[in-house]
Amino acid sequence: MINTNYGTLLVVSGPSGSGKTTLCRRAMEADLCRYSISCTTRAPREGEQNDVDYHFLTHDEFSAKIANGEFLEYAEVHGNRYGTLKADIIQLLEQGITVVMDIDVQGADQVRACVDEVIGRCYSDLYIHVPQDELKARLSGRATDADEVIALRLRNAADEDACMPRYQFCLVSQDREHDYDAFTALLKALSMRISLMR
Ligand code: 5GP
Repeated sequence: MINTNYGTLLVVSGPSGSGKTTLCRRAMEADLCRYSISCTTRAPREGEQNDVDYHFLTHDEFSAKIANGEFLEYAEVHGNRYGTLKADIIQLLEQGITVVMDIDVQGADQVRACVDEVIGRCYSDLYIHVPQDELKARLSGRATDADEVIALRLRNAADEDACMPRYQFCLVSQDREHDYDAFTALLKALSMRISLMR
């Protein structure tokens, strides 16, 4: 059967400890969605391949892509720049492929503001909210983090939660299986949107 529909673009945000990366990865391993390959100015780590793990760019190449308006969103993280190419995402959506973007609230603002017709038809966003007590328990459970780091993450989570009303969907996180079931149910429902029909 030929799939004549566009794919869903689902932007997923949530605080550190929300489990969003695990959720997206698990759905990808189950072949329910794909990640896009980002651009970065950081050096490849051992074993990382260009155009597989990232598109590795120089600072000048990255700046040129910003100037050409090629990024759907970009951000500076720990002194390196990272961004998602608009053309890569559109190509996947045109093939009917579901794409998830695991990005922070600022990245989500940039994608939401994109005026491209295909992105607009396919776009959806989900915020993963973890109640404060539960988040504190999860972050404290990671024995590696110092108390100040946990306190900072909790403050950051409160700031991110303030952005929740900008999102279309909210998943109130419970346990892994509940969250995964809710996430995959959302992906399936989104793939039935009339706006995806050509
Ligand atoms: P790493 O260098 O460890 O692969 O990634 C560092 C950080 O950059 C992670 O928090 C990751 O989510 C973020 N990141 C990776 N790709 C992108 C991207 O395309 N856009 C944005 N905004 N952040 C990204």
